[in-house]
Amino acid sequence: SGPEVAALVASRVLDVPDFPKPGIVFKDLMPLFADGTVFRQVIDGIVAHHGTGSFDVVAGVEARGFVVAAAIAYATGKGVVPVRKAGKLPRKTYSASYALEYGEATLEVHEDAFVAGERVLVVDDVLATGGTAGAALDLVERAGGTVSGFTVLMELGFLDGRKRLAPRTVHALLTV
Ligand code: AMP
Repeated sequence: SGPEVAALVASRVLDVPDFPKPGIVFKDLMPLFADGTVFRQVIDGIVAHHGTGSFDVVAGVEARGFVVAAAIAYATGKGVVPVRKAGKLPRKTYSASYALEYGEATLEVHEDAFVAGERVLVVDDVLATGGTAGAALDLVERAGGTVSGFTVLMELGFLDGRKRLAPRTVHALLTV
């Protein structure tokens, strides 16, 4: 159930203070990924929420989003498309830059990543300010996809990231 999966996520996340910068508490989900039983239960929880009929393909945000996106794609029989950091994709790309706490980051997708109108579930590990997910939304739609929703393992609710993504919906297994 939802509360059980939320408790599972809570039990497997490590809070790392002052990483990568002073004042940031980094939510490290590697222990969750490393535990095969928990990882499967978490992916099954996401799949149970979204079903298989609401999206056609899964887009994962580099790098931890790749882990989750590939598992959802495999479990639902869909394909997976990478949203990558700048300079990694070999062919023509769309590119979107956005603000981080300090400085800027850029994400890219291949121009031909989606079939026109394809419904795309965008996946990452953690939703914080929503800047990353907002850039992924922009890229997916420029490349011809339609974002059907966002899914994350954990949401930092106090940062209001989901407001930036409205009216699209965000599903988080755990909100802190
Ligand atoms: P944001 O763009 O602010 O929503 O940040 C989300 C992106 O940065 C995701 O790719 C997360 O993996 C990463 N991220 C941001 N803040 C944290 C945090 N406190 N713990 C772990 N990852 C984070």
